[in-house]
Amino acid sequence: MAFQKIAPLSVALNFVFPPVCTACKGYLSDTSTPVCSTCWDGLETDAGPFPDCSTGDFAFSSIRAVWKFSPVFQTIAHLLKYDKKHAVGRRIGEIMFARTLPEYFSGMDLLVPVPVHHTRKRERGYNQAEVIAQALATRSGIALHARALKRLRKTGTQTKLGKAQRGKNIFGAFMAVEDLSGKKVLLVDDVFTTGATVNACAQALKAAGAAEVRVLTAARA
Ligand SMILES: [Zn+2]
Repeated sequence: MAFQKIAPLSVALNFVFPPVCTACKGYLSDTSTPVCSTCWDGLETDAGPFPDCSTGDFAFSSIRAVWKFSPVFQTIAHLLKYDKKHAVGRRIGEIMFARTLPEYFSGMDLLVPVPVHHTRKRERGYNQAEVIAQALATRSGIALHARALKRLRKTGTQTKLGKAQRGKNIFGAFMAVEDLSGKKVLLVDDVFTTGATVNACAQALKAAGAAEVRVLTAARA
């Protein structure tokens, strides 16, 4: 009797339940992430203008975001943050690297993700900014120092606070736990809104001796 090849279960399941994009609910041909290529490609580029960092209001020297915040980005960020979708974080980091001018990375000594509080990391099992920073480190060759910063306290959600309140709420929430004398640091986060969080991180990095801090985030709200 001839051996009959049986279609793998995944193929059969795809036939009965075709995979759909989490964002647009359309057919998902590339299942490497739960979001389709049309949605990834449709994310709107943030072409600036970016905050002026020469005024002395910020501890970082420059800040760039790759995309504008949008409902699709929100879905993607949610997958990364709460659904353990590391592939989403890697894709974000890869696109961020591809879409950021090489000059922005040049001369940087290390990549540091904005940390989450250790209790939150324990709940989720990972830090979403670190997943992005890891992909950026792989592409750029810049060393990842995922534990250079420590979050000292939980700051709660910042979404309902005004700009001044956000700054106050987050001030002193971070501490650098390694000597960064003379180092140029590229600080990585998923989203920036007022810049209060990355500014508090940059202050901590500078206090540990960092010569320069640049910020790169996936999106700007
Ligand atoms: Zn889609």
